[in-house]
Amino acid sequence: MRKNGEAGGSPLGRTLARRRAQRRAPSAVGLAADHPCFDCAQCCRYVAIEIDAPTAMHEYDYLIWYLVHPGVSVFVDFDGGWFVKFETRCRHLEPTGMCGIYETRPVICREFDHNECERQLGDEPADKWLFTNSDEFLSWFERQRPKAFRRFREWQSRHRKKRMPKELGRVREMAPWPPRETARR
Ligand code: SF4
Ligand code: SF4
Repeated sequence: MRKNGEAGGSPLGRTLARRRAQRRAPSAVGLAADHPCFDCAQCCRYVAIEIDAPTAMHEYDYLIWYLVHPGVSVFVDFDGGWFVKFETRCRHLEPTGMCGIYETRPVICREFDHNECERQLGDEPADKWLFTNSDEFLSWFERQRPKAFRRFREWQSRHRKKRMPKELGRVREMAPWPPRETARR
């Protein structure tokens, strides 16, 4: 993967980026040191879900929402597919790096081919674009889609000027949470 989402990469990279989002890893109850998955388990540490390529203003806004959460990133593969990726360790990944439910693991894990995973890329980027936080995305957005970016800023500004619902306005008047007495205990 390339950190700031610069373009580049091989056809293998394109295939891999797509497949990364369609699978979970093959593991084994025991791996020999010469097994391609030995000491890796990289693909058991996240899930990636395909999303619509953003075109509408609220879709750009969703991307920002995803990206203000640590551990969530967005990537675009070499076929133009957009994905949201959550860093999350599979609960069945054992400390040894083995799959704890090897015999009953999901089909997506079973069918994933370690010959075509990101480990095979070496130094090649796995993604066409990668955004690990909202600033990275906004800077890409401004650079790559300047007209849409301007419309987005106007859209945001219109929404910020909207009258706040009464209930939300009251939040500022409410006591801090947790209540002071509880916090002292
Ligand atoms: S080598 Fe590839 S398939 Fe094997 S564990 Fe690592 S990322 Fe997963
Ligand atoms: S079920 Fe097993 S192979 Fe699938 S992600 Fe979890 S640890 Fe990896």
